[in-house]
Amino acid sequence: MKYDLHSHTYYSDGKLPPIELIERAVEKGVDVLAITDHDSIGGLAEAHQFIDSEQLPIKLINGIEFSTKWQSFEIHIVGLNIETDNADLLALINEQQQKRETRAAEMAARLEKKGFSNVLARAKELAGPGQLTRTHFARVIKEQGAAKDLQGVFKKFLVRSKPGYVPSSWCDMATAIAAIRAANGVAVLAHPSRYGMSNKWLRRLLVEFKDVGGQGLEVALPQQAPCDRQFLGQLSREYQLLCSQGSDFHFPTNWLDLGRNLYLPKDCEPVWQQWGDA
Ligand code: AMP
Ligand code: MN
Ligand code: MN
Ligand code: MN
Repeated sequence: MKYDLHSHTYYSDGKLPPIELIERAVEKGVDVLAITDHDSIGGLAEAHQFIDSEQLPIKLINGIEFSTKWQSFEIHIVGLNIETDNADLLALINEQQQKRETRAAEMAARLEKKGFSNVLARAKELAGPGQLTRTHFARVIKEQGAAKDLQGVFKKFLVRSKPGYVPSSWCDMATAIAAIRAANGVAVLAHPSRYGMSNKWLRRLLVEFKDVGGQGLEVALPQQAPCDRQFLGQLSREYQLLCSQGSDFHFPTNWLDLGRNLYLPKDCEPVWQQWGDA
């Protein structure tokens, strides 16, 4: 069974509509896919309808990726197997989406001061039905010729202390975990190695994450050093966390795709074990 439990559609900063994401996942042999858009569950209904109407051999897990804050870090919490009609969950999604709107206006104002034009309108155009993310702003800046790739744009304009960066007002990590739990989902700490924190801080984070109800750790990602995967597996055992794996797919590239290069180290307890015959 091939599991990919972290992916994005154009309801956040992914490029594909849900239907195309599902088609691609089936093509790549993914048996169980979670769609985990940033602060959005907008793509789930369409994806389910498509799977049902075409009777596709894939199981879709309802997911979300919340942006949260913990200490001075922006931490991403993935919710898996959530009930999408839960009032607490919906209220938090609504708050986070409003924060995205407010931040987007502020980002656009700052970037226009730096000489870029029509920033908010263009970012909204690019985002379509999706949540506005920094990725959309990066695409706008790139279009206007300020850097040759998105990485470069992020580095010059969109990361902390750069002109287009607006400090986040995301909910606390604990709030996101509580909402996911209220919706009977599993709260998973996303891509632990991407926060640029020392192991000491990571361990502190894991203690608090567990304390406030966190249950899972994203242990396997593509393009990860084998020793990093082993280390995260070891942490999952030490802190007794369920293990997840996901591509964090946003759009097709030569080096990353749905379901590719995902496996858990030995002796890891998969998060999907409790999902019955998923
Ligand atoms: P936001 O949640 O709006 O702050 O946007 C964060 C998103 O931007 C992440 O989910 C990534 O998809 C993308 N991102 C963050 N940092 C980088 C980077 N250095 N290069 C390319 N994309 C990035
Ligand atoms: Mn993203
Ligand atoms: Mn993330
Ligand atoms: Mn993601």
